[in-house]
Amino acid sequence: MRAFEYVVADSAASARALAQEVDGARFYAGGTTLVDLMKGDVERPPRVVDISRLPLTAVELRDGVLRIGALARNSDVANHPLVKRHFPALSEALLSGASGQIRNAATIGGNLLQRTRCPYFRETRWRCNKREPGSGCDALDGFNRTHAVLGTSDACIATYPGDLAVALSALSAAIVIAGEGGERNVSLDEFYYLPGDSPQIETALAPGELITGVELLADPMHERSHYLKVRDRASYEFALVSVACAVELDGQRIVTARLSLGGIATVPWPAYEATRVLKGAVADEATFRRAAEAALAGAVPRRHNAFKIELAQRAIVRALRTVCGGAR
Ligand SMILES: Cc1cc2nc3c(=O)[nH]c(=O)nc-3n(C[C@H](O)[C@H](O)[C@H](O)COP(=O)(O)OP(=O)(O)OC[C@H]3O[C@@H](n4cnc5c(N)ncnc54)[C@H](O)[C@@H]3O)c2cc1C
Ligand code: SF4
Repeated sequence: MRAFEYVVADSAASARALAQEVDGARFYAGGTTLVDLMKGDVERPPRVVDISRLPLTAVELRDGVLRIGALARNSDVANHPLVKRHFPALSEALLSGASGQIRNAATIGGNLLQRTRCPYFRETRWRCNKREPGSGCDALDGFNRTHAVLGTSDACIATYPGDLAVALSALSAAIVIAGEGGERNVSLDEFYYLPGDSPQIETALAPGELITGVELLADPMHERSHYLKVRDRASYEFALVSVACAVELDGQRIVTARLSLGGIATVPWPAYEATRVLKGAVADEATFRRAAEAALAGAVPRRHNAFKIELAQRAIVRALRTVCGGAR
């Protein structure tokens, strides 16, 4: 591991100032992503700014908006009564991630900024445009079973690996960012950038900016929400495919819905085409199937990952059946 400078921030303002002083500085929250990447020489921050003691851990409901502090631990948020009651998909997504020990250390802000699990990114002897812009991508013709079929480019086909952000997308959440001009909210769907020809730029966060929290509207529709994760083994594994959905029903008719996908796209994927199919339709198997087909219509498979298309369609149907039937 390379030598680096370690400094501790005592406020959000000092955290930003300490990070801005040094190019390539990184914040340390729970450390469960950052330290792994530093040990593997994938990330080489000259300065690490410890933000773990900042008072950004509250989970509060005010005026119909739930605000979750960026340093709240994944396990605390997953088990919080307000989250379980108003946003079941959020609780389910967090509980499906990693292991109990990691969830106890991991924070909400750090989770949103986890990097891809593409093995070519995490092993420095391979060519990777995300790690070394312009170097090439060994995943394109390599073993790409876990890679994306949606939102890809000729430069990068890596999946966004997290669960939390997929649920937050379906729940229309906003990320609260502290930057030069104070705090601003960015919707989850605008926070993540498609790889295009610059896969190293992943989010709307500028250098030195700090995520201070996440905000969600306590809409009754969000109480009828669900997160389904399909993976190679039952726990302690990233998603091959995941589905987050929230629906408002009037009898058997779907008034409105949101559906987002994980594990198969380069960013948490809002399935707008599926949402259009669902709105106003009868909540039955035929509708669910049409929505699933619409969601995957633009998929571009590679040599080893075509199976994800059918898997995702089946997962969408199952998740919608669960959320519309009320059975969980
Ligand atoms: C073995 C293993 C299995 C895992 N399985 C899953 C899984 O199944 N599903 C899943 O979703 N995740 C999974 N994870 C990822 C895990 O949930 C994340 O590592 C964790 O949430 C990151 O949070 P952290 O606080 O430890 O982040 P850190 O490692 O401290 O930080 C991660 C990155 O975010 C930046 N950062 C942190 N906080 C802020 C902030 N407030 N503002 C701006 N930048 C910030 C840091 O500078 C760093 O670049 C797994 C991780 C491991 C190691
Ligand atoms: S898919 Fe993306 S992250 Fe993986 S090797 Fe290619 S450029 Fe790197």
